[in-house]
Amino acid sequence: MSRTTVLAHDSATLDEALTRTERLAGLGTLTASIAHELANPLSIITATSANLRTQAAEGKLTSAQLLDYLDIIERSAWRGVRLIEALRGYSHPDSQRKGLVRLEEIVDAALTLIEHAPVGQEPIQITMDVAPGLAPVAGDRNQLIQVLLNLLLNAQDALAEQGGRVLVRVRAVGDGQTVEVRDTGPGLAPEIVPYLFQPFFTTKPRGQGTGLGLAVARDIVRAHGGRLKADNHPEGGALFTVFLPA
Ligand code: ADP
Repeated sequence: MSRTTVLAHDSATLDEALTRTERLAGLGTLTASIAHELANPLSIITATSANLRTQAAEGKLTSAQLLDYLDIIERSAWRGVRLIEALRGYSHPDSQRKGLVRLEEIVDAALTLIEHAPVGQEPIQITMDVAPGLAPVAGDRNQLIQVLLNLLLNAQDALAEQGGRVLVRVRAVGDGQTVEVRDTGPGLAPEIVPYLFQPFFTTKPRGQGTGLGLAVARDIVRAHGGRLKADNHPEGGALFTVFLPA
């Protein structure tokens, strides 16, 4: 377990510096995921273009094949566009770009980003359960994707050794909506619960954890007038609940 202690006499300056660091770290996580994800469609585009050129040069390309190749290239390029969309806006977190967002769509976008994230050897199954007919809520799409991304990456880390399931549930509650991210991993050890949301608190090996994921997530959720809660599920594993007001 490692923690970094920052000493400063002026607590306002310290707060400001921490917030900036958290945001930069959040941007780093998102950028890393997107860079990783972009490599896929880009290599599909270059490989498909190379095939297309070889076959055309040899005079073997039928128009049906040409259309197939173009289809693959176009779909991969669009996937790249969507990934870049996920990054836009987060670089200016001070100016929250609030709009009406559907939490189902937010979860879906975060799942797309972690789809090919490297995990352990054991299989991890992710299930999404969304209550029907939910109204959109007010929020900054990219920042909310970042919240879900951080929770999902933590759930995957918790399951890296043993494999298991991640269940994402979106529900309406009294005056808002909740997104629950539950995993079937070892859960939260009671002695670390008080420190979970502290910036730079991590139990992960050096170079793997930043200790900023939950701090950034809570920062964003609070800026939305919501709450982020950490529990252990009665049947085992960690349960994180994001509440956003209607
Ligand atoms: P990091 O993931 O970089 O360590 P976080 O702020 O996201 O930083 O998480 C802080 C710590 O909280 C983790 O190091 C881990 O000990 C604990 N934690 C977070 N999510 C889970 C989870 N789903 N299961 C078990 N422990 C968790």
